[in-house]
Amino acid sequence: MSTVSQTIDLLPEVSDFLARDVHAGIVGGKPMFASNGDTFDVLNPATGQKIATVASLQADDVAKAVDAAEEAFLKSGWAKMQVNERGALLHRLADAVEAKKAIIAQIESLDAGKILAQAEGDVQNFVDTMRYFVDLAQHVNYRNVIAVRGHEAWVARHPWGPCGFIIPWNFPFLLAGWGLSPALAAGNTTVLKPAEDTPLSALYLMEIAKEVGIPDGVINVIPGLGHIAGAALSDNPKLKRMSFTGSPEVGRLVAEACGRNLTSVKCELGGKGAAVIFDDVDVADTAEKLVNAITFHTGQVCCDATRWLINKNIFDEFVDECLSRMKSVQVGNPLDSNAQMGPVVNAKQKDRVLGYLEKGVAGGAELILEGGAAEVAGCESGFYVKPALLSGTLDNVAAREEIFGPVAYLSPFDSEEEAIYMANNTDYGLANSVWSADLTRCARVAEAFEAGNGWINAHNVFPHGVPYAGVNKSGMGGGVLSPETLNDYLRPISIVRPL
Ligand code: NAD
Repeated sequence: MSTVSQTIDLLPEVSDFLARDVHAGIVGGKPMFASNGDTFDVLNPATGQKIATVASLQADDVAKAVDAAEEAFLKSGWAKMQVNERGALLHRLADAVEAKKAIIAQIESLDAGKILAQAEGDVQNFVDTMRYFVDLAQHVNYRNVIAVRGHEAWVARHPWGPCGFIIPWNFPFLLAGWGLSPALAAGNTTVLKPAEDTPLSALYLMEIAKEVGIPDGVINVIPGLGHIAGAALSDNPKLKRMSFTGSPEVGRLVAEACGRNLTSVKCELGGKGAAVIFDDVDVADTAEKLVNAITFHTGQVCCDATRWLINKNIFDEFVDECLSRMKSVQVGNPLDSNAQMGPVVNAKQKDRVLGYLEKGVAGGAELILEGGAAEVAGCESGFYVKPALLSGTLDNVAAREEIFGPVAYLSPFDSEEEAIYMANNTDYGLANSVWSADLTRCARVAEAFEAGNGWINAHNVFPHGVPYAGVNKSGMGGGVLSPETLNDYLRPISIVRPL
């Protein structure tokens, strides 16, 4: 592992945006500061330095945001607009975001500690997601006639009303796109609570939304702390739909609050994904792809392959291939084009990663690659860790719990049956991959996974149109990114007239 720290200059638009005294939330098209004046600081994970002060909205502010979304739903014309007119506005938003990709990517990189090229990929993904759902919405059957004897009958589909979104810090802009796009394309209005570590790109989005003419109140962004603003949003009875992405622990709280109000809730939660690697793979190529996956965004990826289950015939060879690659990963400031892996998001997350290495070893795991804190010259207060490899049995705490860092846990298997058992022996059920030259075997194993997603000879694959969801402790409520997701944001009503 080596470190780098030569960074690029910030764009003037980014410097201007960051120069504000306090970043307000945007509610009903207007800046909103906390009713009690509270703020919180946002740090750059690469340097540990403060980059912004943000309004910490309170429960009464959040109630006003939901009211603004409700008013926009009823009065702005958004919900009743022809679907192609609404689509034209949202396409304008996607185009404007794409035109400002470099600006948003720098903001995201500074805010989330994301490698700049990966931040650019996230912004493009937002654009692609919005275009996908907007185009899909043009082809929905909004009035579906049903042939039943003796009756005239049809199902009509309308938007629901105000919808809430609570998102985590690992993919702030991309996940805003995954959440907002289907809801908006279907004609709903929205209230988005970004994570307190990473609120900036969503606030910048609001400037673009204003410029392109999205009506006030259709998108509202409420920065704030989870237990205050997040809790108030999930508890608001005026919301018609709630979508939460984050940890299972908080997901449970959000689902409980929604349950009390009988608000439909969708949860996209954590994971402890497996990669099952058979002995007929190209070992070097597979090792490279999995090392890339576990170091991508410093391992802070819910669907990552964190348990590598390797056929015993190639175990040692596979470990050697991984070791040399992991050791050469360049850890550095995400704005440095030579950096391959940036920091984790904050000091707590750094302690979490280092703590799991200690607990894993204490529980009997072998440390194949040591990991630990990393120093990056010029960024001494940044939250950097080195990639690490552990090996052992799957009852180890580091193999069972979500670490959310660049740490893979390796275990050998004998047979296909054992590999499937090992992959499924977890509380989670988000995403696993299977790696083999035998595609029939791949299909068989992928279908045997008890998870929302099974990938073949690849990891982290999200084509628009394919549902992405978790089961068990990884999620509930239907998932994202597919035609079903758009349907979730349309309220069906059956109309029947006896003939
Ligand atoms: P988190 O659950 O701590 O926070 C997520 C969001 O919930 C934040 O906006 C936070 O402010 C808010 N929140 C916190 N307490 C709250 C409360 N009491 N009521 C309402 N909202 C509250 O998660 P995190 O640490 O930000 O993100 C990491 C987790 O997210 C990991 O478990 C990861 O696997 C998961 N994740 C899942 C997916 C997916 O698609 N399945 C995607 C990304 C991240």
